[in-house]
Amino acid sequence: MSPPAVRFAGVSKRYGTAEVLADIDLALTAARTTAIVGESGSGKSTLLKLINGLVQADTGVVEVLGTAIETADLIDLRRRIGYAVQGSALFPHLDLRANVTLLARLVGWPEARIRERFEHLLELMELDPELAGRYPYELSGGQQQRASLCRAMMLEPPLLLLDEPFSAVDPITRAGIHAHFQRLAEAEPVTVVLVTHDLREAMTLASELVILRNGRIIQAGACDAVVAAPADAWIERLFQSQLG
Ligand code: ADP
Ligand code: MG
Repeated sequence: MSPPAVRFAGVSKRYGTAEVLADIDLALTAARTTAIVGESGSGKSTLLKLINGLVQADTGVVEVLGTAIETADLIDLRRRIGYAVQGSALFPHLDLRANVTLLARLVGWPEARIRERFEHLLELMELDPELAGRYPYELSGGQQQRASLCRAMMLEPPLLLLDEPFSAVDPITRAGIHAHFQRLAEAEPVTVVLVTHDLREAMTLASELVILRNGRIIQAGACDAVVAAPADAWIERLFQSQLG
């Protein structure tokens, strides 16, 4: 078994007096997709931000790709972590190509490598090369979302953090994007941490499930195992209400 891509040990986080995360112990298996689910305000986004160092833990240790985040070179580490958030968050004044390739240019990839990776990602996401020169407002919501995934994956990161990336699109478009995400996850050996409040989405895209409630992990494990044996009545109700 390979070492975990991300490990939390005894992690807690407060904002002022509010305890946002407490007693977080978690190991995320490399090359798998783990979904973090929970109600709004349960600490999902904060958990993700602890992984890329946007937020620092008050107690405990966060290890990412083999390095404790406290001692890591964050700039270097973030180059190895793709990050995509709700809505596509593409730069409106850049066309699709410029949006996707921006980071590769910043880190000085040679032109040929940039072009090759860009074309490969468009193909994976089934984005027509003719769209490369279009600005975000000239793309559909689904195309924007796929472009945003391409941008997050441009530098071939071993780790991809997704914060409710598909929640702003309509259900039909979302189903399409799910299929594209799955193509990507199969084609690349990437560890994905997917934050969502949609349990159905979690079950479709992830193999591992972590359920957060009021800043605590109340259950974690393989999706099938968790659904087969909810740890308490609250989780059981969650499954009933969302998976029916
Ligand atoms: P989720 O993503 O599950 O909705 P968050 O991690 O965004 O939850 O937030 C958890 C709690 O922490 C919420 O109560 C939120 O208001 C609070 N919070 C998040 N970020 C900050 C911040 N920078 N300063 C103060 N409180 C924050
Ligand atoms: Mg959030």
